[in-house]
Amino acid sequence: MISENLFNEAKKFLPGGVDSPVRAYKPYPFFAERAEGSKIYDVDGKTYIDYCLAYGPLVLGHANPLIIEEVTKQLKNGTAYGVPTENEIKLAKQVVKRVPCAEMVRFVNSGTEATMSAIRLARAFAAKNKIVKFEGSYHGAHDCVLVKSGSGAVGLPDSPGIPEDTTKNTILVPFNDEKAITELIKKEGKNIAAIIIEPVMGNVGCIPPKEGYLKFLREITAENDIVLIFDEVITGFRIAEGGAQEYFGVTPDLVTFGKILGGGFPIGALAGKKEFMDMIAPSGTVYQAGTFNGNPVSIKAGLTALKQLDSNFYSEMNLKGNKLRAGIQEILDSQNLDFKVAGLSSMFQIYFTDRDVLNYEDAKSAETDIFQIYFNKLLQDGVFIPPSQFECCFLSLMHDDDDIQKTLEVMENAIKTVKN
Ligand code: PLP
Repeated sequence: MISENLFNEAKKFLPGGVDSPVRAYKPYPFFAERAEGSKIYDVDGKTYIDYCLAYGPLVLGHANPLIIEEVTKQLKNGTAYGVPTENEIKLAKQVVKRVPCAEMVRFVNSGTEATMSAIRLARAFAAKNKIVKFEGSYHGAHDCVLVKSGSGAVGLPDSPGIPEDTTKNTILVPFNDEKAITELIKKEGKNIAAIIIEPVMGNVGCIPPKEGYLKFLREITAENDIVLIFDEVITGFRIAEGGAQEYFGVTPDLVTFGKILGGGFPIGALAGKKEFMDMIAPSGTVYQAGTFNGNPVSIKAGLTALKQLDSNFYSEMNLKGNKLRAGIQEILDSQNLDFKVAGLSSMFQIYFTDRDVLNYEDAKSAETDIFQIYFNKLLQDGVFIPPSQFECCFLSLMHDDDDIQKTLEVMENAIKTVKN
């Protein structure tokens, strides 16, 4: 069946025809048949260079041969045990070795579970209730963070079904704004348990922190007994071996992971200093549990992925990212367009606005109608990016010079189309 017909059929059985809202772009999403390296192939016979990469996990590209080999071996040995395995210790050791704040790790199944549990832990540790999140940040689909959220929730930022009683303890602030945090903490600091932040905002496009901003947050949280949580579900293992905390040289109290850590399989994790992590059951009383926590297939895939992510890998990803961003900037300059090219390392996005993008409000000034034309044109010409101005595009190790060259040609055409 072709994608259009599959989508019509899907809508009868799956709300909106998909299992996650952002996937349902108009008029219908392509349905995947297979994927390998930098390419994804649809059921209609088309091939795309993929910059969505399953929204971030596939930093080694699709169907990484080593991961497939190791996971195949694991599958033959069982897919879930409900008892501990040595590989969980090995993966936890890898996380601890790489990530500055990590002394212990709890593996869960998704980024959503990781942030939910990290917030619970932070509240228990601080013995306070309020949390602070940034406008436009996305920390998964659980109640207390689904307020003015990014990702698929931009334009649908607060969900019905979440009691006000739940979100009244979530305080919103603009990203990259020291004054807003300083004033808030002056007023409310004694009630704030935690600040949770995507160190690079990756769910309203891609917004890096201003120079010194994360350091400022580290200092002000430490002075006010507020737990600092870095949500590194996107940046973890992507922008440096130790994630954003290594990249920016700022160590939070707790960190959350997902995506890359599972090597293309479902995973999440929270990690932090021992004094925090020891509060988690069964060492402590903060409840956290899951049938599939530490799933042996995900753990094996994660271990095999991390083995391939050494310092050479990060240098190469930086080069690829720089090359692509510089190429896009050149196209915009040659067309006399003042749109903004954002990103760092292997993350990028174009904002169709002439405003510098430092926070959610700036990002929202981007013309989504123009983005839609650009997206459709890219798709038509064989380049797949996430179907929203407010998602981030990703490169993988498998994107070679030819892919980048071809992508820039396709982008140039799309940008010319947008201009006309
Ligand atoms: N945190 C961030 C920064 C994310 O980008 C996401 C998902 O995109 C999540 C949390 C939620 O992760 P998951 O979709 O695995 O639940």
